[in-house]
Amino acid sequence: MIVALAGGVGGAKLAVGLAAVLPPEELTIVVNTGDDFEHLGFTICPDLDTVMYTLAHANNMKTGWGRAGEGWRFMQEMRRLGGPDWFQLGDRDLAVHVLRREALARGLPLSQVTQDLCSRFGVRHAVVPMSDTPVRTRVKTASGELAFQDYFVRLRCAPRVSGFRFAGVRKACVPPALSRVMRGRVDAVVVCPSNPYVSVAPITSVPAIGAWLRQRKFPVIAVSPIIGGAAVKGPAAKMMRELGAKPDALAVARHYGGAVDCWVIDEQDAPLAAAIKRLGKRVVVTRTLMTHRRDSATLARRVLRAAKNNE
Ligand code: GDP
Ligand code: CA
Repeated sequence: MIVALAGGVGGAKLAVGLAAVLPPEELTIVVNTGDDFEHLGFTICPDLDTVMYTLAHANNMKTGWGRAGEGWRFMQEMRRLGGPDWFQLGDRDLAVHVLRREALARGLPLSQVTQDLCSRFGVRHAVVPMSDTPVRTRVKTASGELAFQDYFVRLRCAPRVSGFRFAGVRKACVPPALSRVMRGRVDAVVVCPSNPYVSVAPITSVPAIGAWLRQRKFPVIAVSPIIGGAAVKGPAAKMMRELGAKPDALAVARHYGGAVDCWVIDEQDAPLAAAIKRLGKRVVVTRTLMTHRRDSATLARRVLRAAKNNE
């Protein structure tokens, strides 16, 4: 069993590659729920939906979020009626939010609701939220704490960050499907090239997941989300600078410390390999930019080879 830890865009891109090369019974994708929030009566789960849509080949490749072939009549009408329009909800996306709300209102746990939605989308690999109870990322800034989506969408990541807090994480409830996986045989954990602070840290901060990772007998292989000193997308590099780190693959490796055994870095970053090795890590240098699905599958194969050979 391979367990992948994923946020949204970067996570989904590697997850789809892993799903292309592993059968459903050999892959569990654990997804960040720290970005989830309540909006217009819906529980919105951006990272779960990005992973689900990507695995279903139903994602919007241009935006990196939402559905392909999306319609916007709902949003147009919200705007016309003077409703809140800072968070984009496409017509197709909305159907998913309605189904999720209905199922959550019936008392089903998020993991079961996710499984049901995934099966409606024909996704056969296990996509599991990191927690069945709410965990909400709070962004610390000079002007106080912000809810994650306020920071990310409404303020477009403009405020300077000084730290993060994952409200509810101490009481986070690991879904039964994930507990079963954690008790069974795991061959490797793959940390997808997701934002270290707001996609991966919420997952590893879930107490049961963190404890399981610390006493592991399997290797942890991570793909750097920073290529050539920049993030492919999103605020990861900006956050690193604001937190006092030079945004590069070496700083990411230092940040994860002993939590990662093997680093997969981009060929552009080959000059950093020696310094990462000096941290006591194994290093694989390869193309890590995933532009097409075949790039995702190629990278996934390389990651799995590193996991198997302990190279
Ligand atoms: P979010 O939740 O949608 O913000 O997505 P993630 O946290 O999963 O991913 C964001 C990170 O993915 C950013 O730091 C990007 O640099 C990284 N990323 C996106 N695409 C790629 C890619 O093709 N290759 C690599 N190595 N990183 C990527
Ligand atoms: Ca996210």
